[in-house]
Amino acid sequence: MAPVLKTAEELQIMREAGRIVALAHEEVRRAIKPGITTKALDEIATTILRDHQAEPAFLGYAPGQHPPFPATITASINRELVHGIPSTARFLQEGDIIGIDVACFYQGYVGDAAFTHPVGEISRSAKRLLTATAAALEAAIDASVLGNRISDVAKATAKCAGRLGYSVAREYTGHGVGRDMHEEPQVPNWWHSKNSRYQWQDYELQEGMTYAIEPMLIAGRPDLVELDDGWTVVTKDGSLTAHFEHTVAITAGKPLILTLP
Ligand code: MG
Repeated sequence: MAPVLKTAEELQIMREAGRIVALAHEEVRRAIKPGITTKALDEIATTILRDHQAEPAFLGYAPGQHPPFPATITASINRELVHGIPSTARFLQEGDIIGIDVACFYQGYVGDAAFTHPVGEISRSAKRLLTATAAALEAAIDASVLGNRISDVAKATAKCAGRLGYSVAREYTGHGVGRDMHEEPQVPNWWHSKNSRYQWQDYELQEGMTYAIEPMLIAGRPDLVELDDGWTVVTKDGSLTAHFEHTVAITAGKPLILTLP
């Protein structure tokens, strides 16, 4: 199914959904410190969404074989790439990096963004990884202009990551965002060659297209495994990972970042 193009009115609502997501991120970011649990961070995000008449989009989400996701945010620490489940038993430690993903429904539309934060003082290598992942997101956003295709956006991410010495997650992608959290197009972090097992559809970018770009960079090998909780994705070799994400809209000029405060 081709990507659903949004009207100016729809984009206004999506901008609000994105703003609420950004506010939740801001409050969570402020609370991140050694000793806090990931469940406490989840409660902060839940409150912000509720105060803005928004519903958490991950709560109860259960695609395929996954059990329903039990929280508002995903909180993924160090080797955990994405989909970490908040827990009262999981305490942040000095030197950790933590990826927080928040998505909400607001007036029928989704906003979706993720950021990875330092916990206290972190190593130089962890800092480099965070900077690189943010740069990959920026490169992919810059490539999100008319005249380009989804494959150009994917290649921009891969090129930036590769130049800085990192792998990207191959099996996990960004995605179209609108009335559904996951619409066409898929927005990968790299682009496959012909006859690959990856079946992403390439599309020419069009005004009104809205999608989440989400670079997931890995300091070691890109082999991933899902833990027994049915959600948490970790690197097999234990290497550090980082994840940044914005939802953007394609316009006649620069892309509009929907998930800013
Ligand atoms: Mg997300």
